[in-house]
Amino acid sequence: MGTAGEPIGGAAALASIAEEIRGCTRCRLATGRTRTVPGEGNPLSDVLLVGEGPGAREDVTGRPFVGPAGQLLDELLRSIGWEREDVFITNVVKCRPPGNRDPEPVEIATCSAYLDRQEHALQAAVVVSLGRHSLQRYLPGARIGAVHGSLRRSYSGQHVFPMYHPAAALHQASLRETLFRDIRGLPAALLAAREALGNAAERSVVAEEAVARASEPDGPPDDAQQMTLFQEHP
Ligand code: URA
Repeated sequence: MGTAGEPIGGAAALASIAEEIRGCTRCRLATGRTRTVPGEGNPLSDVLLVGEGPGAREDVTGRPFVGPAGQLLDELLRSIGWEREDVFITNVVKCRPPGNRDPEPVEIATCSAYLDRQEHALQAAVVVSLGRHSLQRYLPGARIGAVHGSLRRSYSGQHVFPMYHPAAALHQASLRETLFRDIRGLPAALLAAREALGNAAERSVVAEEAVARASEPDGPPDDAQQMTLFQEHP
């Protein structure tokens, strides 16, 4: 860890947090897990995706979003010209809740210090919350139906882009279209967040390239969506 208040070296800090998570026994989820799922991705990314908690396949592999919901997440990212390697992906809880039940408040609270530290190490410009539990962390009380697909500010000032959880679309087909529509607004949301942060020039080359790819002629988003985001969140 670096000195308090000073930005911490991303990759090294993220690796050290992951190592700590692998040995974690702070809550009872530790007793039922096969492997912890600390998270993975590009430590230089400006985009942090936060899901709820590992499922069966994640529990076995130790990697986030590698089951059916993860396949849809990959498709969503590719639809805007991004790859998993362009972003950092983690969850609110790092161990699988038994039978894929919802994580309990005490489990979320116990695990939250890891996510706090991952956020601090990554310094992403925008956090994409995937699903209800992730949304509640950043925008307590918000309704996903009201905020999905739009850039918001959390109480602590983070730029948050809420999305439905990909798993929800596996059960409710109509949400699939919503997810694909919403993610088209993400590159513009990233640009808006970066502009608001006022340090675009210092931000990661990885995110620059990903945004450029997403803005190619046949790639979304269109200008109208970008304008909407900029106007709503100057
Ligand atoms: N659902 C999540 O919320 N996270 C995962 O890693 C996998 C499925």
